[in-house]
Amino acid sequence: MEQAIRAEIERYVQKSPDNRRPGGGEPYFEVPLVGFAAADDQIFARYKEIIGPFHLTPQELMESDFGNEARAATVISWVLPIGRTTRESNRKQETWPSREWAETRTFGEVFNVTLRRHMVGWLAEKGHLALAPQLSAKWREMGDTPVGIASTWSERHAAYAAGLGTFSLSDALITQRGIAHRLGSVITDLALFPSLRPAVDHRSNCLFFREGSCGMCIDRCPVGAISQEGHDKAKCRSYVYGTVPQAVGDMYGVAATGCGLCQTKVPCEAMIPPSEKGE
Ligand code: SF4
Ligand code: SF4
Repeated sequence: MEQAIRAEIERYVQKSPDNRRPGGGEPYFEVPLVGFAAADDQIFARYKEIIGPFHLTPQELMESDFGNEARAATVISWVLPIGRTTRESNRKQETWPSREWAETRTFGEVFNVTLRRHMVGWLAEKGHLALAPQLSAKWREMGDTPVGIASTWSERHAAYAAGLGTFSLSDALITQRGIAHRLGSVITDLALFPSLRPAVDHRSNCLFFREGSCGMCIDRCPVGAISQEGHDKAKCRSYVYGTVPQAVGDMYGVAATGCGLCQTKVPCEAMIPPSEKGE
């Protein structure tokens, strides 16, 4: 069944017209990565300490949607790698994201929502309970928490639990296909074999944490939101959700532009970066 789910997500990403630029152009996203985490993995309980008590477990979300008798078994998580042309266009940018990047942030994420709905329906057709945390009534953003802006379900942390990547200096997730992507997940009562978490630790795909090198994302950020101390979420958010859409949102015809300068023209853009020390 794991392979059938992978195949269905891949098929939908490759075939859906919603994953195409207007006029049937290039897809927003390339071939996805898919991983599975056991819903009772203790890591989800630990997220209440690491992120905050407001972060929900798969079981809490399952009960919220389907009642106390329902049992969450698996979190299915996916990585949608952003297409090469879009990444290349953003590499050239120094201040604002490219048009292609901004369109991917808005219309690519619309596709990601349809993929969440599609997989919930696909599992339901096969007799399984399923929900997409980001579409749940329980999903909400928490403004002021000890870890800054957070939400009741983190797609990045779900993807980490499912063995799909590790965290970066810039607070994103570096996967086998790099850091330039969108993430999604679905929780189901279908028991599936959990994926291994192959990384040495939760930050080992980032060169800065692995060997003290790189730091290229620091220079790519136009507002100084990344430093050797990490990622300033508030500064980043103010730029990504305030300054950038005000400056180029109308011109690009989108409300959400993203930014992603720290995710392009960096060694982790589309892969787990190899050592810079020749090791
Ligand atoms: S650019 Fe370098 S330091 Fe920044 S996240 Fe990528 S690997 Fe880590
Ligand atoms: S998304 Fe943009 S503003 Fe935020 S850290 Fe990256 S480069 Fe800086």
